[in-house]
Formats: sequence, C-alpha cells, structure tokens
Amino acid sequence: MTKSILLIFSISSLIAEPNWEKARDETVDLFQQYLRIDTSNPPGDVRLAAKWFANIFEEEDISFETFTVPDDPRRMHVLAELKGMNSELKPLLIINHMDVVPVDEDFWDEKPFDGELRDGVVYGRGAIDMKGMGIMELMAMIQLHREGWRPERTIKFLAVADEEILGPLGASWMIENHWDKLDPEWVWDEGGIGSEDSFPGVSAFAIAVAQKKSFWVEAVVEGKSGHGMRPYKDHPNEILVKALTRIVNWNTPLEISPVVDEMFNRLGESTGGGQGFVMKSLDNGLVRYLAGGSVAGTSVSTNAMLRNTISLTMLNSGYKTNIIPEKATATLDIRLLPHVEPEEFLDDLKYVVNDDRVQFISKRIPRNKHVSSWETDFFNILSDELHREKPDALAMPFMTIGGTDSQFFQAKGVNCYGLIPVMVTEKDVQSIHGIDESLSVENLMMGTRIVYHTIKRVCGPGE
Ligand SMILES: [Zn+2]
Repeated sequence: MTKSILLIFSISSLIAEPNWEKARDETVDLFQQYLRIDTSNPPGDVRLAAKWFANIFEEEDISFETFTVPDDPRRMHVLAELKGMNSELKPLLIINHMDVVPVDEDFWDEKPFDGELRDGVVYGRGAIDMKGMGIMELMAMIQLHREGWRPERTIKFLAVADEEILGPLGASWMIENHWDKLDPEWVWDEGGIGSEDSFPGVSAFAIAVAQKKSFWVEAVVEGKSGHGMRPYKDHPNEILVKALTRIVNWNTPLEISPVVDEMFNRLGESTGGGQGFVMKSLDNGLVRYLAGGSVAGTSVSTNAMLRNTISLTMLNSGYKTNIIPEKATATLDIRLLPHVEPEEFLDDLKYVVNDDRVQFISKRIPRNKHVSSWETDFFNILSDELHREKPDALAMPFMTIGGTDSQFFQAKGVNCYGLIPVMVTEKDVQSIHGIDESLSVENLMMGTRIVYHTIKRVCGPGE
C-alpha cells in the first residue's frame, strides 16, 4: 500500500462512525436481558450473568476467559480482550461488577428484575449501578471488534463478582491470583457520574480519582460489674458514654485535599459570583475560616469530602436490667481523607478522648494512599469525549466518599478513573442502592458512544 492510500485508509477509519441508530435496539435488548438476571448480593450468585457474557463473547468471536473462585463457585469473573499490536503498552482495563444490592420489593413501584422499558426509560436494579455501564463496555467491545479495528494498546474488559461487599472473592481475588493477566496502565471503573443538579449552578461529570478510606475501630472499656441497686462511679458504661460524647462532639478540622481543591476550583470557575469565589478560594485560610463551614454545611456529602468523619454505628453492653456490666463496646466507622495515616488519626482521637481506660482496637486498617493523576492521556481524552457529548458540562476530578473496586488497583499504584458516563439528576443518583432504579435509553446510548470513542482514542492507532 502506498503512503497516500494508507493515509486515506486511516482517515476513513477515524471518520467511520458506527450506525448508532441501528445499534440502539440491540443495546437496549442486551440491557434488558442483563437486568433480568437477578444477581443480588447477598447471596451474590453471578454464575448466570458470567455465562451470559461468555456466550456473547463466544458468538462475537471475542477472546475471553472465565474464572470461578474455588472457595465459593457462585463467584465468577469474566475477562475479555481486544489484543493490541504493541505489546510494550500496558492495557486499558474497563471494569464492571455483575452483582447488585438487594431490593425491598415492597417499596418499589416498578418490577426490579423485569427490565421493563417505558417511555424511553429502562427500569431495574443495577440500571445505573452498574449493569448499565457493563452494557456500554460490552457494546463498545462488540462494535470495535465487528469493525475489525486493530488497537495499538490492548483493551481488557473485566466483569467481577462481589463489588457490593468489597469482599476478598471479588476484584481483589483477580488481583491476587491473576495479576499477570491484568497489570493495566489505567482502570476505568464506576465511582463518579454526570449530574445536572447535584452541584450548584452547573452540570458536571465528576470523575473519581480518589476515595475516602474506611478505618474501622472498636472502643472498649473493661472494669468491674456490680448490682444496679448500688450505683458507683466510673463503671465501664459510664466511662464509655463520656468518651463517646467527646467523640461525637469532635468537629474534625476542615482539610482541603488537592483533588477536592481542584474540584472546587473548576466548579468555582463555572459557577462564578460570590459562591464561585468562595469555592475557588477554599484553600485560602481566611476564606476557609469565614466560609468553609458553610460550604461543608451545604450537604452531608460535601461535609464528608472536606474532613475525616466518624460515625458511631454500634453500641454493645449489658445483659440484665439490674446488673452493671463489666464491659462496654462501641464501633466507630471512621472515613479518612486519602493522605491521612490511620495511626496518626487514632493518636488525635485518643487525645480528644483523653482517657486511658478506653482502649481502641483497629478492626480494618486501610493502606491505600494513591490518588490518581488527572494529568494523564486517559483523563484528557475522556474529558474531551464528555465535552463532545455535553459541551456545557464540566468534567472534573472528584473524590468519592464511598468505596469501589478501584481501591484495590490504586493500592498497587495504578491510576484509576471512576465515571459512569451518563448525565442524570440528583433524583436518579438517589435511586442507586434505593428504589425504582432506572436509566434512560438516551443515557445508555450516550454512555456507549463515550466508552467507544474514548477506548478508540486511548488505545490508538494514533492520528
Ligand atoms: Zn457499583
């Protein structure tokens, strides 16, 4: 082939756009089929879903492998790939989880496992979290493979079990047992979303690059027991209650981590006005002092982004009304900002409590400190593709206050990006893990186009 023919060929392959109108029915149909497979966790049985994916990859002649976890064969994982021509480039890993949180059917107006389509909206548990994105990733793989497109960089598609319980048989099992088959340059996961009205005055795609860390601690006081008719000072319940009062009243300091600073900067630039100024200047000590509290007060989620938080979730003590018990226990769900060391935070907590009779026992110590860079090709290309679909929306780095599978990859130093590429409303966001979860066909198709175009540009061949 001469150079000019090559050039024409590569330009036409760049311009060639799938027929999305035609792809719509097929995409919706697959989405409905997938939603009809009940993968509630617990019990977290994803075998039917894994086999469903496997059949499709088989039919499409896309190379794939399935993995069954020996400790619990209901846990399966599916790994498919489009092999890149340049073996020196590490793969792009697009991940999705097959399990969903359970439903309380009494509260649903819709049927959670029927995949019903009505007025352009598909209903079902997992529609957003995260079967919808699983379908976007699947369709992008199918479309690219049907075109005969040859990437430079390998694309790996990984569907996993057990994300909803972040258990050792989920993504972390794949990482532990099959790292050689993953070892990605970037991971594209859930964690953020596009929302029209979650941020003041601006539509924004929040791309998760960091997560709060779960640090679970038990506070225990032991002492002597006695009869309830003869009260005495300093029994375990009393000591623990005093300590817990100090803990729940402790207003942990506001801390603007770099990712939150960047997020508020970008939001502030788009929002403008006084509110914009405050957001842009949050890292300025005086503004933080004057207004930080009010920004943190706008919502419990915003508050959680700006400080380490402690929730007192369990209290355990006593067994009889007339007996003063010898032991009292409380459980604290502590969520730390990415850079905070658990041990250092525990020292601060002990200082606040100021009582040696209270012992603190760490039950879960997070070790992930990685914050993904938002100055990578992946982040830039993804942002660009989001703008192509929604020119007025902002794309910004974001810190999730919940956990996703990304934490296991980040713990290995991999840059992970969490975004379900749809533009929804705060009401839709509330339906995640809530009632009447749904996704519009329009969003499903927009997300599919974004995944398709982002993969195509990230994995080359270059222009
Ligand atoms: Zn999820």
